[in-house]
Amino acid sequence: PLPAHIYPNRRNSAGVDLADPLVWGPLSEELAEWRSTTPRATPTLRAERGGKRHPVLAPYSGRPVGEWVAASDKDVDLAIARATAAQPTWDALGGERRAELLVAASDLLEENTARLIDLCRREAGKSIPDAVLEVREAVDFLRYYACEARMLFGAPQPLPGPTGEQNLLRLHGRGVFATISPWNFPLAIFMGPTAAALAAGNAVLAKPAEQTPLIAALAIDLAHQAGIPKDVLQLVPGDGSVGAALTGDPRITGVAFTGSTNTALAINRSLAARDGAIGTLIAETGGQNAMIVDSSALPEQVTRDVVSSAFQSAGQRCSALRVLYLQEDVADTMLTMIKGAFEALVVGDPKHLSTDVGPVIDAEAQGKLQAHVAEMAEAGFPVWRLPLPVECKDGHFVAPTIIEVGSILDIDEEQFGPILHVVRYPADGLRQVIDDINATGYGLTLGLHSRIVETRQFVESHARVGNFYVNRNQIGAVVGSQPFGGEGLSGTGPKAGGPHYVTRFATERVTTIDT
Ligand code: GLU
Repeated sequence: PLPAHIYPNRRNSAGVDLADPLVWGPLSEELAEWRSTTPRATPTLRAERGGKRHPVLAPYSGRPVGEWVAASDKDVDLAIARATAAQPTWDALGGERRAELLVAASDLLEENTARLIDLCRREAGKSIPDAVLEVREAVDFLRYYACEARMLFGAPQPLPGPTGEQNLLRLHGRGVFATISPWNFPLAIFMGPTAAALAAGNAVLAKPAEQTPLIAALAIDLAHQAGIPKDVLQLVPGDGSVGAALTGDPRITGVAFTGSTNTALAINRSLAARDGAIGTLIAETGGQNAMIVDSSALPEQVTRDVVSSAFQSAGQRCSALRVLYLQEDVADTMLTMIKGAFEALVVGDPKHLSTDVGPVIDAEAQGKLQAHVAEMAEAGFPVWRLPLPVECKDGHFVAPTIIEVGSILDIDEEQFGPILHVVRYPADGLRQVIDDINATGYGLTLGLHSRIVETRQFVESHARVGNFYVNRNQIGAVVGSQPFGGEGLSGTGPKAGGPHYVTRFATERVTTIDT
């Protein structure tokens, strides 16, 4: 068969054309209906009844939109026991059958697009266009990894037998994976690693972020309706203590985590401290992403790409632009245009189709981002802030902000929100810019706007980043086309939506038969 990334039957999801009134009309009516529901999230399997009910709060209003129950210690123990028992049968099912089930789940997600968009908005505060992209990406992950399951977990691969024996290589699931997911892609990055682990023949205990358990619960429910057994795929909601209970248990053979670098390091330590099992960690963590703009760049294109890279999704993407390097001879012109587009951004409730920038996830995130802006202003760096409209007063909104700094190294840590830092660099200073970017230790996305081929080649060969985007924005990696993930402090690799991802969830076995 062809490699999965060019698999002939695989097509990325078409999504929803929001510009078509015949599409948007019925969709908005459906969204209005779902808005009044009160969804719940509970562990798939319960060892005991009850448990404290936590509200899920809407980031744009602070009001409850649903509730969830965390898995207790006994629930976690039961979940692991049942997943461990069920995994060999799931593994033995083979890649073709697992692929069929993953595709069936992707079809059900697509059919429930309106419900998923509603939850993306209500519990994660996503704008409607962002929510549409999120559903598409989740569907794409399921179908992409289904192709991989078919290709990699079918017939064994025969290997040469120079002394006359027969050698066969097979891939199998490693056992039980815990997938620990972030709130910023509560569907796509919840389902992505989960689908990859399932494709490889693992059972999965999926722990969503505690801010966004509702959409995860719906996705798991749909996957069960598609035929994936409940013991094989379980929702295990909870906070960090549930995550720690999972990663500290030697029956968990691997962890796929997306979130902060510090948490990834803590998981690594927890895996290393267990007796009797060597765990696998696949981690996708933060970034300190830069874009470099030289004097050959096209100003209109730069403006569009800077604004979307920094402010789309309220800057809550790992890939988002944090530090814009402008070559000093064009910096004033570029900044004037960028500020013009920045001032036109519409901040507000994500229920309006016109909203460009919604809220940040919660009060803690809001407080941290506001403290950063205040500190930078106090330190004397020039700051531009958009005024917030009145409708934003009760929600966790952070005013989109631009701050001019001296270097990427002036910023202590990743600011996960709508804040863009700008640095001016001299025409002969490109090498220093790259050295500074590399010195952060992160290596996720990097943008370059330049028409000079030698500049692109220089940056490409010196920057240590996972995703390098030239003359475009640097967010929105597409499954199968831009496999996504970083290096250094940004993660362990492999890249989500790429041809090397699923194999990391698998173990290899070789049978050698002598005649
Ligand atoms: N894949 C997303 C993008 O390219 C970012 C994922 C993340 O924020 O973790 O924008």
